[in-house]
Amino acid sequence: MKYALLDRGDRLSKQLAQQLHALANDKGLIHDEEAPEVVVSIGGDGTLLQAFHRYENQLHRVTFVGIHTGHLGFYADWKKDELPKLVEMMATSEPRNASYPLLHLEVNTKSGSTSYLALNECTLKSVDGTLVAALRINDEPFEMFRGDGIVISTPSGSTGYNKSLGGAVIHPSLEALQIAEIASINNRVYRTLGSSVILPKHHHCDIVPPDPEKELHIAIDQLVVQMAGVTSITCRVSNQKVSFARYRPFPFWNRVREAFIGSGD
Ligand code: NAP
Repeated sequence: MKYALLDRGDRLSKQLAQQLHALANDKGLIHDEEAPEVVVSIGGDGTLLQAFHRYENQLHRVTFVGIHTGHLGFYADWKKDELPKLVEMMATSEPRNASYPLLHLEVNTKSGSTSYLALNECTLKSVDGTLVAALRINDEPFEMFRGDGIVISTPSGSTGYNKSLGGAVIHPSLEALQIAEIASINNRVYRTLGSSVILPKHHHCDIVPPDPEKELHIAIDQLVVQMAGVTSITCRVSNQKVSFARYRPFPFWNRVREAFIGSGD
């Protein structure tokens, strides 16, 4: 079995990476950064986002496993002292693959369009001041947004930025995307729905800035792009999914409870 490894770069993550290589070598696992079957990330959810984007062109053949060095993560759900158990399972057992939906994003300009995949979300803001943008759903006008920004998240990204904005937490078995507002201006002149909106897989939305010359700040997970000349951004549930190797069950709602509520002990 071939594996790749990405660590956060801090001292503890690097130490754990060395330990994992040694354990994996003992078990006959092959370290292969080019064409791995399993990609292991050591750090936090942010490290797993990096690992996802490094291997986003190989999603049809790779699965991901995340080890956290601090608090429990949503993607990084193995503890550092469980390393020997994880490596043993990687060497000897067939994991269940849990597949999560992704966001497909098309940024359109007069000169063409660029596609992106997001595991968590796309965040749209204006570089200078208030973002003004028309939101269209399934090619019909929905609302004219004015405010700090718009976040379009995947179900697994719903526990990230989306949750801080009061968006719903969505189980990743639901193929959907969620549109949440960041501080919309709502008064007698400007009006938006105010609550977040959840679209099913066969729907799409377009965000259309009325002034394409305004520079936009577009964040795709942790990657930030600043660009002017954007005529629209189209968001839909991707036809691709990301797979996580589940060597043991850890239900999504247990992770939500442990991360945000505590075990209740
Ligand atoms: P960061 O600013 O260094 O960390 C943001 C925090 O979000 C970290 O604690 C990270 O966990 C956590 N996180 C990432 N994905 C998550 C998920 N799916 N569910 C719950 N928590 C999650 O940035 P980063 O590490 O590069 O991560 C980028 C992500 O940060 C974005 O995709 C966005 O979801 C999130 N973010 C949140 C806010 C907010 O809540 N106000 C604002 C901006 C961005 P770890 O510590 O385990 O890495």
